[in-house]
Amino acid sequence: MESPDVVVLGAGPSGLGAGLALARSGAAVLVLEAGAEVGGLCRTRRRDGHAYDVGGHIPFVEDESRRAWLDDLMGGDLHWVDRPVSCVRDGRIVRGRYLDQRGPGGDGGPEGPSAADLLSSRFGADFVSSTMRPYLEKVDGVTLGEIPAERAQKLLETQAAPEGFWFPGGGIGSLMNAMARGIRESGGRVLTSTPATAIHHSGGVVTGVDVDGPRERRRMACRNLVIASPAGRSHRLLEPAGEPLPPVRMRAVAIVCLEIAAEAVSDEAWIQVDDPDVAFARAFEPRNWSRRMAPEGRTMLGLECYCNPADDDPVWKLDDAGLAGRCAGDLVRLGWIAAEARHRLIEVIRLPAAYPEFARDQLPAIAAPRAALEALEGTHLAPGAAVIEAIAAGEDAAAGITEQRTAA
Ligand SMILES: Cc1cc2nc3c(=O)[nH]c(=O)nc-3n(C[C@H](O)[C@H](O)[C@H](O)COP(=O)(O)OP(=O)(O)OC[C@H]3O[C@@H](n4cnc5c(N)ncnc54)[C@H](O)[C@@H]3O)c2cc1C
Repeated sequence: MESPDVVVLGAGPSGLGAGLALARSGAAVLVLEAGAEVGGLCRTRRRDGHAYDVGGHIPFVEDESRRAWLDDLMGGDLHWVDRPVSCVRDGRIVRGRYLDQRGPGGDGGPEGPSAADLLSSRFGADFVSSTMRPYLEKVDGVTLGEIPAERAQKLLETQAAPEGFWFPGGGIGSLMNAMARGIRESGGRVLTSTPATAIHHSGGVVTGVDVDGPRERRRMACRNLVIASPAGRSHRLLEPAGEPLPPVRMRAVAIVCLEIAAEAVSDEAWIQVDDPDVAFARAFEPRNWSRRMAPEGRTMLGLECYCNPADDDPVWKLDDAGLAGRCAGDLVRLGWIAAEARHRLIEVIRLPAAYPEFARDQLPAIAAPRAALEALEGTHLAPGAAVIEAIAAGEDAAAGITEQRTAA
């Protein structure tokens, strides 16, 4: 492929969604991935007989056509997990996220700009304060008044799985692998360990990318570029450099993967924990997502600790052994494992820049790199804050390109 019709930057769900749609439409597409494997944040890791995702990853499937699309791609290896997300209330694990718990109802008064305003008008201020606020503030690291109403609205509308969810039997990474396979089978290319190191532009138009990998290392002309990697990082690749932009504060996640010497710790897939003294905010047990993900007689918990990537953050500053010990102690305090239960650290996965801190004062800084990239002719951004949403954003970007190519 000397000169692809379209270059896609990033092989997470959005880049793979774009690449698959483009390859199936007959375009010569090249997907570049900086990492050693495809999937972005949606990877499935394997260690000591356990398979586990980099954080619990529910595909929020909203319609039958998407379910059928997934099923076809997975060759039928898609099953229904009959457990919604759960949370801890009054010391007990109960069905439903904190956002699914229902209070007496708000006064329906006018909604304001913050998540606190929106949720209070729907569910009542006291209920929101006692039930929803602690968890949302723990994950986002800012007060509910600082979280924009749009974020809460989106969580309520698009990231709920109140009855359960569809999930690939081999983990979320198996879906990403199937998408990459689909691209190759349709004639496209996916190159891993091959980052784009510069995005060239001239006169407001994209002209090419620098590619630096073991199989391709050159400047490549390109008129259509799908940007399916974080906008801030991509903006830094502009050549000539774009206008300097304000920095964005990022949130970190440390995922502590602990093997517990037991058949199971719970019957739940994913449990939210609002107690601020507990290091983790969510715990997932892969065996309850797919039996294939856990070896016989052993189980594993993925404990997602949301924090700031700073040396003075009480969680982030702990070394791996310290963090594992802290999480094990929290499991005992929650009553999920016995004090004498044997456990073993499999690994700690640290994501120092997992997502931007969603505070209202940050919204302009978060939007700035995206706007600067979109202003260039030939760029197509594919942003998505959730797996299926990201795939759909990639498909939308692909549809725009296909339309333009057809018209030309
Ligand atoms: C702990 C955790 C739990 C989550 N849980 C859920 C969930 O339950 N449900 C859900 O729907 N979503 C969940 N998400 C969100 C979901 O992971 C993201 O929405 C999704 O991965 C975004 O896809 P993306 O393709 O836009 O970006 P990413 O997955 O971040 O992929 C971007 C890719 O671009 C690559 N890249 C970057 N720079 C370059 C470069 N210069 N050249 C080439 N490649 C480059 C990166 O290596 C990466 O592979 C979760 C996220 C986290 C962190």
